[in-house]
Amino acid sequence: MNTFEFDLAVIGGGSGGVRAARMAAQRGARVLLAEAGALGGTCVNVGCIPKKLYSYAAHFGEAFTLAHGFGWDAPKPVLDWPRLKANRAREITRLNGIYHDLLANAGVQLVNGWASLAGPHTVAVAGTGGARHITSRHILVATGGHPLVPDLPGAEHGVTSDGMFDLDPFPRRLVVVGGGYIASEFASIFHGLGAHVTQLVRGGHLLRGFDADVSNFLAAEMRKAGVHLRIHTEVAAVTRQGDLRQVLLKDGSTLEADAVLFATGRVPNVAGLGLTAVGVAQGKDGAIVVDAHHQTSVPSIHALGDVTARLQLTPVALGEAMALVDRLLGTGARRMDYDFVPTAVFTHPNVGTVGCTEAEARAKFGAVAVFKTDFKPLMHTLSGSTERTFMKLVVDRASDRVVGLHMVGPDAGEVVQGFAVAMKAGATKAVFDSTIGIHPTLAEEFVTMRTPVPD
Ligand code: FAD
Ligand code: NDP
Repeated sequence: MNTFEFDLAVIGGGSGGVRAARMAAQRGARVLLAEAGALGGTCVNVGCIPKKLYSYAAHFGEAFTLAHGFGWDAPKPVLDWPRLKANRAREITRLNGIYHDLLANAGVQLVNGWASLAGPHTVAVAGTGGARHITSRHILVATGGHPLVPDLPGAEHGVTSDGMFDLDPFPRRLVVVGGGYIASEFASIFHGLGAHVTQLVRGGHLLRGFDADVSNFLAAEMRKAGVHLRIHTEVAAVTRQGDLRQVLLKDGSTLEADAVLFATGRVPNVAGLGLTAVGVAQGKDGAIVVDAHHQTSVPSIHALGDVTARLQLTPVALGEAMALVDRLLGTGARRMDYDFVPTAVFTHPNVGTVGCTEAEARAKFGAVAVFKTDFKPLMHTLSGSTERTFMKLVVDRASDRVVGLHMVGPDAGEVVQGFAVAMKAGATKAVFDSTIGIHPTLAEEFVTMRTPVPD
């Protein structure tokens, strides 16, 4: 006998929650989804999508300059920032509506409200009509994360990535604190939109965890483009006088800025969820601990995406959601496969990467062959830009498998996505070598590198 009102109750309507709810409902399950904010979560509202739209905007600004060498003359372009913001907001609202319709059409019961756990099978949802308790056979927590701002004097005078999309006015001088994905992307984007950008990195490198050559090459290209990148630089305090922010550095010097972005990492959204009372185990920063099947320490409660603080990427949250629904409502016990997850950083130039860094490959496989190239892309022979492109392959010598592929250059994410398929299928360097290139492209370099760098 069916004792629960729902088969699946989802808390959080972001990338992972929406995908799980929709897929479960399409399989005939009775599904409820509670979302406290706007449907689509971080990615749609304050992440991937608006960020990429602004990245396009920044590239357009540069294109006017590059076009000169190709015979085009145009007056110096001027950014209409309010128009860009309004067009972005309109598009995001359209996407929110699409998410709503997809869920509603699949038969998901949508609740706009804050939800928490009230038991292993019970969710409390605070809606406009007051709190309501529902019961469900399975519960999925997909509440995502939020930016972490360092605890330093005056930190409240800064903004996080959430506030960058609607800054008013456009910051002529922007200080970006951090060296990760978000800091590097926003530094590039706002530089491209016309701001004077200073990026402060506390460590010695951008993008910790990426291949060292990638991080060094990107840093050099961003500097060449005009981003003031300062490594081993830490903020002591921020003060504000009217619209002016002063950033006091630990070396005693001061920077002036119209806006200060803290892009210093993200932590899981777990406050007020009732995890402890229900017995859901948590790890660092409160992240929900799950097994390989996204099951928490309470068997009926599952979690995925950023709230589990593993790989914080939209396609990973989507993949986890599909694996979970297959397991709970399908036939098999399919697991999410985390091997060869590709990723791109939408800096200018872009970074695309899949598989091991050279250091990881040396530690894992011992003997590796490394192939590298850096060159001036054909477009820049006429554009006048000094931007260069970097590519690198890391090959396990014993098996000849390509275990790492890295690129810094235009549309690196587009290039790397296809190679990720080949690498997941186990492509060897011999297969890369026997693949015919497409000429003239940047990507063809990945199948024409023949001489490894000396060990
Ligand atoms: P989210 O998408 O964050 O969704 C969680 C949802 O839960 C939110 O809508 C929230 O309102 C809701 N919620 C939270 N608590 C409750 C509650 N108690 N009750 C009801 N609802 C609740 N990834 C990429 O792959 N590519 C990119 O280019 C990229 N760019 C990014 C740029 C930025 C600036 C940021 C911040 C992130 C970016 N990411 C990118 C990461 C990506 O956005 C996340 O990995 C992804 O959104 C995680 O999905 P999720 O479902 O776990 O959580
Ligand atoms: P990251 O973990 O990538 O980077 C955080 C950065 O902040 C690091 O450089 C870190 O330095 C620095 N930092 C942390 N604390 C401090 C501090 N107190 N003072 C100064 N610097 C500090 O996090 P992000 O916030 O950039 O992004 C979060 C996640 O979102 C990413 O890991 C990624 O998974 C996802 N994302 C994905 C994107 C994409 O796919 N294109 C784009 C944007 C986000 P240190 O290295 O020294 O610790």
